[in-house]
Amino acid sequence: MMERERTGQKNQIISEIHKDSQTVTNISHIITTEQVQLVSPKNTCNPDHCFYAGRTYTDILYLCDKKDFNCPPLLYAYKNQLVKCGIYERYHWATFESIQRQGIPDQQAYKTVRAYVDSLQENLKSGNGLILKGNVGTGKTSLAIAIMQHMIRNGDINCYFVPLASLLDEIFTRQGNDRAEYVDKLKNCKLLVIDDLGQEHSEGWVQLKFENIISERYNRCRSTIFTSNLTADQMKNRYTERIIDRFRDNSKIINFTGKSLRGQLRAV
Ligand SMILES: [Zn+2]
Repeated sequence: MMERERTGQKNQIISEIHKDSQTVTNISHIITTEQVQLVSPKNTCNPDHCFYAGRTYTDILYLCDKKDFNCPPLLYAYKNQLVKCGIYERYHWATFESIQRQGIPDQQAYKTVRAYVDSLQENLKSGNGLILKGNVGTGKTSLAIAIMQHMIRNGDINCYFVPLASLLDEIFTRQGNDRAEYVDKLKNCKLLVIDDLGQEHSEGWVQLKFENIISERYNRCRSTIFTSNLTADQMKNRYTERIIDRFRDNSKIINFTGKSLRGQLRAV
């Protein structure tokens, strides 16, 4: 194959990867061995095992010798998995390590989140969640995503991130089985992160559907993490008492008081 042709194909694969990461529903492509060789030739930690043709992220994680996320096939499959779990490119940088490197706006809040993660298995088993509250730009969403990345890197992909406004939008737009499947995932996944509680504009049927998902998760002891800018009073004005009880019952409330880092934090 001509070098120019090779580069062209490589660029096309890369652009497809980027295109796919725009839409969560679109990521089901199985990558061929040939494509793998074009994107990442021979720099895997074990070429016999660590390639991704037809393999899922968890397969590659299991097979990858070093379990080091610099192994290109593992990294590639991992990023695809993040998108499947609702985490878009913009937030792929958000791991505990990189948050620590960039500077933590609120040490106390950070420590409390870390403590939750240190006992993640127990917390997920008991359905314990978190409510991360505070002003815009204090790092709530990044930390919620860091929790998910920690979980996914340890091989558990049963988690999902969604801004509440998108969640409601999806419920509204999807039809029939497609909607049922989506709602089912929201009710059942081991960890659900709902971003920006209180920023949604909805009422009536869609709002009821959302409250129903929260109640079901509560009854099934599934952990939910919320981020929100709302104060306790604003929360009371907005949601019914029943649902506020559901939010709070199994959840630790963490207040973020640090200065906004928005603008300083950049995706890497
Ligand atoms: Zn490897």
